[in-house]
Amino acid sequence: MTTNARGHLACPRCGEEMEVKGVQGIAIDRCPNCFGIWFDKGELESIEKGGGADMVRLLSMGSPFDDADMSQPWNDLNRDDDRAHAQCPRCSAAMERHRDGIDRTLIVDRCVACGGTWYDGGEAGRHLEAIRDEGVFAYLKRIIFK
Ligand SMILES: [Zn+2]
Ligand SMILES: [Zn+2]
Repeated sequence: MTTNARGHLACPRCGEEMEVKGVQGIAIDRCPNCFGIWFDKGELESIEKGGGADMVRLLSMGSPFDDADMSQPWNDLNRDDDRAHAQCPRCSAAMERHRDGIDRTLIVDRCVACGGTWYDGGEAGRHLEAIRDEGVFAYLKRIIFK
């Protein structure tokens, strides 16, 4: 486990102790250093449906990784760097890199063991903005018929 005595998760990217933020009654874990956000299984979907997207966008702003991310070759999901081997902050399993289902330019870390997803700073906001751009109908169609 990567929780400390207070039960806070450690950031899978920078190791900082994450803080718990309540969004619509859902407790999400957010790194105060690199602004990445951890969503346990189903949490992000609940926030999308519940209209808390703006809150999450604000929480994920200000990422020091933004510049670096934009220059990454997104077509190489299995590139051998630190990011490909991040550990799940919840259950310590090795996470896999997946292309985000909404914003296809995003590569997120997903834990197949517990179903959680890690978004680096700014990425959760981009995911939610993509949903807004796509429109609610198209989004629902996508999640129903995927
Ligand atoms: Zn961090
Ligand atoms: Zn996990």
